[in-house]
Amino acid sequence: MKWQGRRKSSNVRDARGKRVAAGSAGLATVLNVVGRTFGIKGILVLIALGFIGWQIGLLDPATMLGGGQVQDVAYQATPEEERLLDFVTVVLADTEDIWNAEFRRIGQVYTVPELVVYRERFPTGCGMGDARMGPFYCPADRKIYIDLGFYDALERQFEAPGDFAQAYVIAHEVGHHVQNLLGISSKVSAMRNRPDYNQYSVRLELQADFLAGVWAKHNQRYLERGDIEEALRAANQIGDDAIQARTQGKVVPHAFTHGTSEQRMRWFRRGLDSGRIEDSDTFEAPYESL
Ligand SMILES: [Zn+2]
Repeated sequence: MKWQGRRKSSNVRDARGKRVAAGSAGLATVLNVVGRTFGIKGILVLIALGFIGWQIGLLDPATMLGGGQVQDVAYQATPEEERLLDFVTVVLADTEDIWNAEFRRIGQVYTVPELVVYRERFPTGCGMGDARMGPFYCPADRKIYIDLGFYDALERQFEAPGDFAQAYVIAHEVGHHVQNLLGISSKVSAMRNRPDYNQYSVRLELQADFLAGVWAKHNQRYLERGDIEEALRAANQIGDDAIQARTQGKVVPHAFTHGTSEQRMRWFRRGLDSGRIEDSDTFEAPYESL
């Protein structure tokens, strides 16, 4: 993908120099010391005091448990990582341009998401972000979260190298933002308690792949030989069946939340062929024929 020298988004937040405080470790130490010195009664007294402290506003349990306390730390990124940051900043700008135009075409207004680049753990509007979960979109705060270390895993563990594979990952998360703006995400999350909720989750994920394909279609003039194959390879390697086969050694279809490798590639390809938001009908088709 040709990306150097292109517009960079102003909506990337670099939070790599932030660390979540290890408050829970401190609390555990206090409990341990009190427990050994005064026994269980000591711990109960401490809990009672803590509860009173919380009630009168002296103590904040979230802070004590390390939920949300963020500290600044010195962070030195490698030149390779800085290059990746530049890259995702250009990709985000590209999604802004394309979705602005596409929303205008259907008579709607696109509001851009923020992309937060963090390391290891970071508090989000959807709970504590953890790099082990991979990149994700939080509908509550309308932000995309990524630890750039994921790209190492994509290349080595999932064997999906290439810049367009990396761009596809961002485009998929932006696809979730598009779904959020169109009110699709909230409709799906309202079905959370239904026994067939899993199927709606798969439909939502395949639609995000379709929307990534729409983005790729409008991005075609920047594509280089092999780019589409890189994205398809990433979609193939991070399908639920492929991940399950790697991690559990077997495939359990009812536990799918993202769709199979074949489905993910198919819907990305459909988005690429169509280039139109209106054709993303992953909710209309019978589940078996997705
Ligand atoms: Zn997704």
